[in-house]
Amino acid sequence: MLNKKNPLLIVISGPTGSGKTTIAKRVVGEMETATFSISHTTREKRPDEVDGVDYHFVSEVDFLEMVKNGEFLEHAKVHKSLYGTHKNEWERAKKEGKDLILDIDVQGGEQVLKSFDDAILIFVLPPSFDELIRRIFKRKEENDFDLETRLKTALRELDFADNYHYNIINEKVDAVVEEIKEIVQASRKRSFYLKEFRQSFKMKIERYLRDKNV
Ligand code: 5GP
Repeated sequence: MLNKKNPLLIVISGPTGSGKTTIAKRVVGEMETATFSISHTTREKRPDEVDGVDYHFVSEVDFLEMVKNGEFLEHAKVHKSLYGTHKNEWERAKKEGKDLILDIDVQGGEQVLKSFDDAILIFVLPPSFDELIRRIFKRKEENDFDLETRLKTALRELDFADNYHYNIINEKVDAVVEEIKEIVQASRKRSFYLKEFRQSFKMKIERYLRDKNV
């Protein structure tokens, strides 16, 4: 069943090596109610990436023009490049009646938190420091690889984890994906979604009592 009425914005963040991109893509693959937000970035395309699928790769001039025009729902500088979620992604999700999964950094998460009351922010942690280092080294072939920068960014990201609604340790991807699906299900039960229903319920009770002169 699609969630036409209240599509959710679901932010998944975490330090490099947390596995958050794998997790975000798996969640989208397994939840027919979800769609992946394709960000814009000024960083260079990696050999295995496809423009328009992994990211929209744009020049810095074009990116800054979009910032000036207020086209981004959130945007930030991460490492040495600019990244942003275009408002069109959220419009597309709403039109499709789907939840939008954002794989973004904590600066972006903070902006989403400020602008969307009902956004869900999930922070994924690697299971240990050793595992973090191991996972970072696994990505050594990337041409923007720089261990120190990635660890410094990880430190900053960890400070932000407190502001996220949920923190999950990524021991096993399968388990994390299940946990996120449960979080999304539970979030649909949040009280403010039934505000109108409660209101009409109250009105009916009041009318009944008035009619009965109670
Ligand atoms: P990468 O270049 O390795 O794909 O991503 C680098 C970092 O940028 C990751 O933490 C990723 O989550 C983040 N990122 C990707 N897209 C966006 C975006 O649209 N906004 C923000 N704020 N961060 C993003």
